[in-house]
Amino acid sequence: MAMKSIVGLLEYVKEGWKINIRLIDYVNEPHCNCTMSYIANSIYALFNRVAAIQDADAVERIPPVNPDCPPRLILKDGEKAPRVLIIGGGLAGMSAALELSERGFEVVIREANPILGGRLDSKKTQPLLPLDPTEFYADHGFHAWFVNSYHQFGDIINRLGLNDQLQAWEKTDIVFRNYNAEAIVSQGPYPLNLINVLRTSTNMNYLTSLRIMGIATDSAFYDYSKIYEDWDEYSVEEWAEKRGIDKAYYDIVVKPVGAVTLSKVQGFSAAEMQNMMQIFFLAGPGADVRFTTKQSFYKSLLEPWRNRLLQNGVRIERSKPVKALRMQDGVCEGIDGEPETYDYTIMAADLPGAKSILEGTVDACMDKKSGTLATKLREPVSKCKIAPPYKILKVWLKGLLPADKYPAIIETPEHSPLNEIVQYHMLQDEYKEFAAEKGIGCWEFHLYALEDKEWSSFTEAKDVWKKLAPIVHEIVPEMADFEVRGYHMNQYENFPDFSKGQHKFRPQYSAPSSIGIKKLVMAGDWLQTSFPSFIMERAVSTGRLAANEVLREYGVREVELRVVSSYGPGLAAVGRKWIAGLTAKWWGTGKSA
Ligand SMILES: Cc1cc2nc3c(=O)[nH]c(=O)nc-3n(C[C@H](O)[C@H](O)[C@H](O)COP(=O)(O)OP(=O)(O)OC[C@H]3O[C@@H](n4cnc5c(N)ncnc54)[C@H](O)[C@@H]3O)c2cc1C
Repeated sequence: MAMKSIVGLLEYVKEGWKINIRLIDYVNEPHCNCTMSYIANSIYALFNRVAAIQDADAVERIPPVNPDCPPRLILKDGEKAPRVLIIGGGLAGMSAALELSERGFEVVIREANPILGGRLDSKKTQPLLPLDPTEFYADHGFHAWFVNSYHQFGDIINRLGLNDQLQAWEKTDIVFRNYNAEAIVSQGPYPLNLINVLRTSTNMNYLTSLRIMGIATDSAFYDYSKIYEDWDEYSVEEWAEKRGIDKAYYDIVVKPVGAVTLSKVQGFSAAEMQNMMQIFFLAGPGADVRFTTKQSFYKSLLEPWRNRLLQNGVRIERSKPVKALRMQDGVCEGIDGEPETYDYTIMAADLPGAKSILEGTVDACMDKKSGTLATKLREPVSKCKIAPPYKILKVWLKGLLPADKYPAIIETPEHSPLNEIVQYHMLQDEYKEFAAEKGIGCWEFHLYALEDKEWSSFTEAKDVWKKLAPIVHEIVPEMADFEVRGYHMNQYENFPDFSKGQHKFRPQYSAPSSIGIKKLVMAGDWLQTSFPSFIMERAVSTGRLAANEVLREYGVREVELRVVSSYGPGLAAVGRKWIAGLTAKWWGTGKSA
């Protein structure tokens, strides 16, 4: 590691020196009539070198703390496997279930909904009745996998043999009211991708880079260990103001990134934004390449995942919400009011679910010790805010748009509350086939941060469409002539709010054991981690961390975590990593999660 860093630094100095010499030679030559372009290209080349050096360190490993333990449970004759209850069958719960069931634990998943998947679920629907009985799987809402940074999720997809279920979507198309449309294409590691955004933009140019130096520097010298302390009390807007950022860059790049978190962008935490930049932009080459499923979430992911869990002997109990935990003398034993006792419980409910389970638990505790501990756990969780409601509306329309004019996924950050339009008939097989046969397409509209009572009060899809259609037609005028054939709509209020000042309330997965509650651990995207992670990858990572706590307890080797680097690609980070590498080599180190 140390050797690699020294070689890397030397290469960097050598390359930088060569470029400077060439640059000086070049600008001194009489024919030099495009100095700006040459400087830009030289900087590009220099960054390319730095990026290549950085690339090798893009992924950090969190190895098992107990590498000498057996890789799965070893039971003595007649001994029963420990029983683990997992509350919540979303990504976090399913991830924990996979790790534990593969290692010989007896696992029960208890899910409130009739299906697994949580915010990634996929429900059968017949939207075109009575004229057409065709059934579709309607996903919760379009999701993008940043597989090059989602190392935990990528590992699960790999293990389930589902790599062929994903398709890369390299271009991010964004339409605005106040700017030309942008088509951002992933182009190499940072800062090449950033330079490329400026190079290809019709709204910004290289000079914009001078006006984003403040935030570019913050990103380059990103340090996860200080990010919340430094930036969580600031909103993205305040960060931009403090750093004097170019308005076009803020509107075109920063705002759309923040909008995908379903929180109100203006109040969105500057720390979380920098995490997102690190994960989705800086973490390595192709960090910004999005992947989507070729079929519905159910067909592409959830069904094979659920089948693997069933094969591993996992018992899945659906439509059975948990109201409260049963605790005795500070030990979590299972579900309040139910006779079964579990050796460990993983609470992988979403934030609203976790809040209500902890409320119920405080009331249900019969002994003082349990009551005090449950109250202590509930306190910070009750302060974690839930993002405003969001609606996902699917509309089936007779007619199709020219594919070369309208891409499958269009971000619409300036058409609030509309945030995204997805043409399912260009993405998923069943929708594609149906459109080819019947000429009927399916458009999905994401309406986020619905603080406006009128939007959130609509319960009928047709009423939402009536209000939304003029906004959509502004972007896609041809659609005004398409006849509506069917709808599917849901409204939810289950997303953690990532606005400023929230991080201090977010517990870690191990919060129960840290405060003295035994046999209870948590998982979910609303928790904090000690490494950069976000939304789906955070859900899967916390599921794995929770499973690791159980594995440790029973003397089974932990599962390794591979995570995005905690440092941005700045030179200070290179130096810091180099020193860390040296100390690790000489004295050893262990990064606890
Ligand atoms: C519209 C939309 C788009 C998104 N796009 C992306 C994206 O592009 N990329 C990305 O990375 N992430 C995206 N996300 C976020 C991603 O879906 C979540 O981060 C992830 O699915 C969370 O998984 P989880 O297991 O933590 O929670 P959930 O999926 O919410 O699972 C929690 C489960 O717990 C269950 N539960 C709750 N209470 C109880 C109870 N009392 N008893 C039993 N069960 C209970 C719930 O029913 C649910 O099944 C998006 C989310 C939405 C809504």
